[in-house]
Amino acid sequence: MLEKDIKAQLNQYLELLENDIVLKVSAGEDKVSNDILDLINEIASMSTKISVEETKLERTPSFSVNRVGEDTGIVFAGIPLGHEFTSLVLALLQVSGRAPKVDQSIIDQVKNISGEYHFETFVSLSCHNCPDVVQALNIMSVLNPNITHTMIDGAINRDEAERRNVRAVPAVFLNGEFWNGGRITIQEILAKLGEGPKAEDFADRDPYDVLVVGGGPAGSSAAIYAARKGIRTGIVAERFGGQIMDTLSIENFISVKATEGPKLAQALEEHVKDYNIDVMDLQRAKRLEKNELFEIELENGAVLKSKSIIISTGARWRNVNVPGEEEFKIKVLHIVLIVMVRYMKVRMLR
Ligand SMILES: Cc1cc2nc3c(=O)[nH]c(=O)nc-3n(C[C@H](O)[C@H](O)[C@H](O)COP(=O)(O)OP(=O)(O)OC[C@H]3O[C@@H](n4cnc5c(N)ncnc54)[C@H](O)[C@@H]3O)c2cc1C
Repeated sequence: MLEKDIKAQLNQYLELLENDIVLKVSAGEDKVSNDILDLINEIASMSTKISVEETKLERTPSFSVNRVGEDTGIVFAGIPLGHEFTSLVLALLQVSGRAPKVDQSIIDQVKNISGEYHFETFVSLSCHNCPDVVQALNIMSVLNPNITHTMIDGAINRDEAERRNVRAVPAVFLNGEFWNGGRITIQEILAKLGEGPKAEDFADRDPYDVLVVGGGPAGSSAAIYAARKGIRTGIVAERFGGQIMDTLSIENFISVKATEGPKLAQALEEHVKDYNIDVMDLQRAKRLEKNELFEIELENGAVLKSKSIIISTGARWRNVNVPGEEEFKIKVLHIVLIVMVRYMKVRMLR
């Protein structure tokens, strides 16, 4: 089932498996079930660390990725090829014991979450934003036994997608209710669950020389400029990266012919982290006051002090508060952009 090149790559990854894992398959007589069985058996034949069991899961066809004797709660209801193949490979590695590539502070926050969280993410195999969401929620399931995550391919679970009113992907449901539409990072998931840093986590911050509010391209370059002068610099950002996180194709950033928004944001973050800049991501500034120093109060109640403040809060899409807005937002945005690009091309050809 797997093409030769992909199989060669997969072989290399499977050598990194640390412990035995069990793939439990819930299959019927239909074609998709047969395809899932073919894929699972082919993967299992490539490593002695992988075994396959038949089982009955909530959806058929589907399969789960587990440790020996312990279910992780990671389920794929569909065939994770296309953009989701990486999600499958990472799930195999992480369930086998390889540490996910996220900061230790995030790992600790996920492990400390109490309460039961059952996530389901509707995806399509051609969706660029879906794998990030699937991988973030899979990491959370690997780290915390109270969290489960099922990736649902909307194309082969059409009735369910229709019934649950899924209009755009990725669409995340939490404990049965719609919870998030569009790309979301693990830090954003934690913040949305109310598990992000608390006011006391900021209590020991000394005053800054420059505190930048906003972590888009403007705020990042201001912070880098300041930090290069050797002064104490911080960034408070509701969402690091800013608006470029919402766009895929960027072709007018001089000296980089073409890139994607999230990639550019990641490069910004790496550049910022090269300097001694205190980045406080997923923190919203709600009040600015000038006393002896400037004081910025965050949504969580923490107060940060600084000799000077740079405000680079950019712009954001305004909500019109109509039903279905969250689910449709990303889809509509992409359609608008495609129409704009086509319109401009037609104008240029005339
Ligand atoms: C869909 C889309 C496609 C685009 N495509 C392109 C393109 O191809 N080429 C191009 O040149 N430009 C493009 N742009 C525009 C480009 O993204 C913006 O010009 C650029 O991001 C502006 O940078 P900025 O740092 O000023 O603000 P923003 O990117 O808006 O960043 C603002 C920052 O401030 C933070 N913030 C806001 N309020 C608060 C608060 N109260 N507390 C803490 N933080 C806060 C935000 O979370 C964010 O980090 C596009 C924009 C969109 C939405």
